[in-house]
Amino acid sequence: MDFSALTKKSSASFNQHKNLLKKLAKGQTVKCEVCQGILTLDLKTQQPGQGVAKCPKGCTEIVLDLA
Ligand SMILES: [Zn+2]
Repeated sequence: MDFSALTKKSSASFNQHKNLLKKLAKGQTVKCEVCQGILTLDLKTQQPGQGVAKCPKGCTEIVLDLA
């Protein structure tokens, strides 16, 4: 198993999440890559300190670490 590829991939998505969170925090509109629907930030998750960015159709659902 190639762990280096796995690490690279997860760190890329980590940065992607950070950028997404930054945009949402600034009130910028972020669109779903799949349906082009506008992502909304839901802070009422079961995990404290986490939010979920979702598109209206549900093809994107990204858990964001807010802590
Ligand atoms: Zn979507």
